[in-house]
Amino acid sequence: MNNETLIYTEKELCKTCYTCVRGCPAKAIRIYQGQAEVIKERCINCGNCVLMCRRGAKKVKTDVEKAVELMKSGSKIAVCVAPSFPVEFGDIGAMRFVGMLRKVGFEYVCEVAFGADIVSLQYRRLVNENPDKKYISSACPAVVNYVRKYYPSLVKNLAPVVSPMIASSRVMKNFYGDDIKIIFVGPCIAKKMEIQNYTSSVEIALTFKEMKEVFNRFGVSEANSVDSYFDPPYPAKGVLYPIGRGLLNASEFEDDILSGRFMSASGLENFTEALKNIEKGDIKSQFIDLLCCDGCIMGPGISTDNSKYSREEMVRLYSKDKYFNMKINDWEEWITRFRDMDYYVEYTPEDLNESQPSKEEIKKMLEKMGKYRVEDELNCGACGYSSCVEHASAMIKGLAESEMCLPYTIEQLKLTADELKESYNQLSKTKQALVQSEKLASMGQLAASIAHELNNPLGIIMLYSKIMQEDIKPDNPIYNDVKVLVEQTERCKKIVSSLLNFARKNKPIFKKTDISLLIENYLKIFEKKDNIKIDFSGEGNVFSEVDSDQITQVLSNLVTNAVEAMPGGGTIKIRVYKDGKNSVFSISDTGCGIKEENMKKIFEPFFTTKQIGKGTGLGLAVSYGIIKAHKGSIEIKSNADPNKGPTGTEFIVRLPCLETAEKSVKTDVLKHI
Ligand code: ADP
Ligand code: MG
Repeated sequence: MNNETLIYTEKELCKTCYTCVRGCPAKAIRIYQGQAEVIKERCINCGNCVLMCRRGAKKVKTDVEKAVELMKSGSKIAVCVAPSFPVEFGDIGAMRFVGMLRKVGFEYVCEVAFGADIVSLQYRRLVNENPDKKYISSACPAVVNYVRKYYPSLVKNLAPVVSPMIASSRVMKNFYGDDIKIIFVGPCIAKKMEIQNYTSSVEIALTFKEMKEVFNRFGVSEANSVDSYFDPPYPAKGVLYPIGRGLLNASEFEDDILSGRFMSASGLENFTEALKNIEKGDIKSQFIDLLCCDGCIMGPGISTDNSKYSREEMVRLYSKDKYFNMKINDWEEWITRFRDMDYYVEYTPEDLNESQPSKEEIKKMLEKMGKYRVEDELNCGACGYSSCVEHASAMIKGLAESEMCLPYTIEQLKLTADELKESYNQLSKTKQALVQSEKLASMGQLAASIAHELNNPLGIIMLYSKIMQEDIKPDNPIYNDVKVLVEQTERCKKIVSSLLNFARKNKPIFKKTDISLLIENYLKIFEKKDNIKIDFSGEGNVFSEVDSDQITQVLSNLVTNAVEAMPGGGTIKIRVYKDGKNSVFSISDTGCGIKEENMKKIFEPFFTTKQIGKGTGLGLAVSYGIIKAHKGSIEIKSNADPNKGPTGTEFIVRLPCLETAEKSVKTDVLKHI
């Protein structure tokens, strides 16, 4: 056999459900990137995954083509039919089924059940001759595969007898001539492997499903066929083999509960559990009949979906009829003739070269999936493995993935959802900032053009009002009026120049600056007030490329606002530090705070909450323009509600610190090269 697996996955149909993993007694299914693939070395070809996959993603390599070719080859072809056939073809009747097989072109149509009779005799002989030995039946090829791969220490217990299929084919060759070619038809997928692993006289092993396809290919139906009899040799109790305990019954091993000498276990969980117990030495029985499926009647090669009990009934019905009509003398004659042929086979262990992970490795793997304590191991089975430890061990062997663990995946999803939420919030903040900055930019343009237009007439008003002031003596009745005129015009000039600043008409002149030093120098010229305490502390070595005049202006705007927010006095805290790639200075006050509804507006030019003549509403707008020109940012934290804690405001200004600025310059240069 080449390296391809007998059972394979149709990738497009496979969804991440792990049902096949759960149903595989050999854990021969690897999940890779969420998809299941069968591992040839581990697979026992029981076909349970094919039965379990609701989406039909597990497929079996078909031998229909091969069979059709053989039928057309002109050779003498015989068919041996497994005793579970009444389950699949019971509704058309055994004789019509045989007739259909003949119509397809089979020269001889025999029952495997006679081979089962021969095998039963061999088992009896073994048990009688070796009363001290413990035997495991070897009629089920999936069980044989399983023992060879996973219980090498029990291989010596496998009864060294060929399967009923092989026994039957040997008898047929002896009876009908060595030149016949034999096709087996049955409920089993593992038979396809068996005929390749053991010297056998069977050419092709078809499932009942495949046989139906062959009938179709040859246009053979119940309607266009006639009844016919099976060819001899006819079986006796071998017909019971496909039912659980049928083998014991057919071998006349009395199933006495008290003695427990003979035992039978069928079905995936039962046969694997039984093997565990046999290896442990818990089972004293002398002969143990194991079947992988819940009896061959439940095999994956059958297409009906009747229950186990109705299937048993169909086999029983046929068996009774067969048994009561059999000619015992003929049967004895055949048995005597064939019982001494060679049915011996030596089963050998199949080394998978697989080391079991250590406890330490398993512990580490469990921790990776967030399972630190025994209570964390939920053993929920969602991954397809019966315990978290088994799953971890499969992961170490490269058979499973952590995503298969439902609690772990849910936890990961939660984390991802949190991260997404976080980035979403970040994104909406950035969006808001973008809208704000666009608004400010257009306002800046408007302000700049108005300021520009006003600058010249204001200059003229200023000039003439000053000339007037100089010409008028203080005792003149209009002297005071002219003085007010000059003062207010100067104020207008100031506003206009602030507006021009805001619109970044003045280009900054960048210089490497020690931010702490810059603040220290500002505080030296700051007009101290009795009721305001300044608490300044700055880390050294916080450098940025800035226009020190402009940053001093920002500083002054922020400190002035802080002072104005604390008419009753308070503390202004100024801090300077480095935060990642930024130089940061923060100014906080214990003032009235900024109301929630004003937060969005405070950077807008002319927005002020101060009384007319007091605030221009340009301080923050100008500061914003300056900080943007420095590729920095301003963050505000404020509380204006005394119920929520002490009121006050903190402005945090971030400016790219020098290393980053230098680096980005360098990369720019590199980019240009
Ligand atoms: P102005 O100081 O001329 O009002 P600004 O642009 O400097 O203009 O400030 C705009 C508004 O932001 C202020 O009127 C005030 O409502 C609010 N504000 C700024 N800084 C503070 C602060 N530290 N505490 C409370 N409110 C502040
Ligand atoms: Mg201000």
